[in-house]
Order: sequence, then structure tokens, then C-alpha cells
Amino acid sequence: MRIHELKRRLREAGAGPSHEQRILRLWSHALPRNSGRRLPATFFPSSLMEVLPAIEAELAGLARIHAIHPGADGSERLLVALADGQTVESVLLPRDGLCVSSQVGCAVGCQFCMTGRDGLLRQVESAEIIAQVALARLRRPVRKVVFMGMGEPAHNLDNVIEAIELLGTVGNIGHKNLVFSTVGDPRVFERLLQARVRPALALSLHTTDAELRRKLLPRAPNLTPEALIDAGERYARATGYPIQYQWTLLEGVNDGPEEIEGIVRLLSGKYGVLNMIPFNTVDGVAFGRPSRERCEQMARTLHARGILTKLRYSAGQDVDGGCGQLRARAVEARVT
Ligand code: SF4
Repeated sequence: MRIHELKRRLREAGAGPSHEQRILRLWSHALPRNSGRRLPATFFPSSLMEVLPAIEAELAGLARIHAIHPGADGSERLLVALADGQTVESVLLPRDGLCVSSQVGCAVGCQFCMTGRDGLLRQVESAEIIAQVALARLRRPVRKVVFMGMGEPAHNLDNVIEAIELLGTVGNIGHKNLVFSTVGDPRVFERLLQARVRPALALSLHTTDAELRRKLLPRAPNLTPEALIDAGERYARATGYPIQYQWTLLEGVNDGPEEIEGIVRLLSGKYGVLNMIPFNTVDGVAFGRPSRERCEQMARTLHARGILTKLRYSAGQDVDGGCGQLRARAVEARVT
């Protein structure tokens, strides 16, 4: 279900703008399911009250939590089953954050990612994105939503923008706390600037070497790191939100002195922050994770050279849950 279809059905049943807003607000906050409260019959037109139970049941049936994997860092990885039996991952992050998935599978095929292994299976619809937020809110408050789970949000732009618009209005998430993550599809920069709710942007950089980036991200748009950073800088200046440059640290691949020089050359003076995430080692993926000392030394060196750098260990690593790994394990368990 898409959000605009849901709105159309509500209007056809007699909902005015305030009724519609109230229903969408309650849904995105997991109410009334969460509180057991029912919507007061006097509040809505009777024609709307007639169809509302069926619509509520449909919304509640969009997704359910199939499995929960708590991490020692306070995160929780949720394996979410969609109505057609497909599964996606959402991750409850420390400090009220939630990472959601925008696709089942992914067409970009990054060499270090499990999600891209099977290609794109299907889009996650806008209502299914909100359903992930509503399910997470059954467990704890959500005040930040990052689109960094399974999938490339740029390849599902209409659904993701629709979900962002709802979350940034009735969903009560501050606009800068909505983070759209992309490998750098040029359409993104234009569309997000025109959107009613403009999110913050995370760009998957991973290397400053154009040739290496083509190998690591084989089906990403063919933008050089320089062009990607230029587009990011324009977006950051237009919105006032710094760009989050993502860098998965791979041992012996992008953790050397030449990358430090490249980063200093490309990111000095830019309105952004570099998030370095040591790779989460996975069976069957031929990359290693640099030692903690190596990662810390790289972050320290960059800091000393004026690059705002944060070393982040991805949430829930202790549950073997890098992007796409829970789903991959669940699918494996089903077929064996
Ligand atoms: Fe897709 Fe992101 Fe995985 Fe790359 S890292 S294959 S863009 S899900």
C-alpha cells in the first residue's frame, strides 16, 4: 500500500484533512493498537467509521516482527516480515534512532554487502516503511529515522519521499533527524531539494579512488568521488545540514596512507562529517576488518589534519547483524 492510496481511500470514505491527519498520526505512532484505545465514534463521519476497522486491520497486517536480536550496545535488530512473506531488517539504535529498509534486496551490488547478493527482489512501499517505524515504536520511542537498512533509497525514490514527508509532519520526526542515505544517484539531489520535507543526506563514499569505487560499488552511478562531494556540498549549503560521508573500512583496501591524503584533499573545508565504520566480517565475503588500532589511528590522523571524523561501530555487530545478514540467515534457514 502506498500512502497516497491510503489518503485517497480515507477521503472517499468522507475523511476531511483533519481526520486524515489524525489517522495518519495515530498510525505512525502505533496507536491505537499500542494503547488499546479506539478512535471515538463521534469524532469521524459515520461513513468513515464504517470502513476504518477494515483499513486499520490492513495497516496492522502490513508488517510484523518475525525475530528480535538484541545487541550488547543497546541496539535491537528486528527481522520484519511483510505481508507477502518477504523480510526486511530494521535496527533500533541507541538514543532513539531507527534504521529502516527501503527495498527487499538491492541492485547496487556493493562487494562488501550481503543485501546486494541476490539483486533487487522488490520495492518496499511507503506504507511498509511507516509500518517499520510503527512496529519499532511498540518497543521504544523513535525520534530519528535513517534510511540505511536494506536497499538503495534512490532506487525507490517516490516511496521513500512519501514516507519521509509523513514522518516529518504527522510522524513527529525533526527534518534533520531524517537521514536519506545513497551511493550518489544524481536524481536524489534535485528531488530532495524540492521535497516538502528535506532530509539530511548520507553519501556512501568508501574511497577517494574513482577506479576502486567502481569496483567496490559496481552498479552505482558513475560519478567520481569529486563530483559526488561537489553535489553533496551544494545540498549541504542549501539545507544547512552537514553531509554524512560513509566509509566502510576494509582491511588493506581503503585504510592506507593514500586514502588519508585523498580524504584531506577532497573533504577539507567541506560542510560534512566522515563516518568510518569498520567492516563487519561475514562468511563468504572476501574482505577483512582492520584492527581497532589501525581504525583509531586513521581517525586520529584525519582529525589532526582538520577532517571531522567519527569512528562508528555498526549497531548490533555482536549479533552477526550487518546489513542484510539477519535476512540472509533467515532465508538460509528456510531453504535448508
Ligand atoms: Fe545496496 Fe547499500 Fe548494500 Fe550497497 S551497501 S548493496 S547500496 S544495500
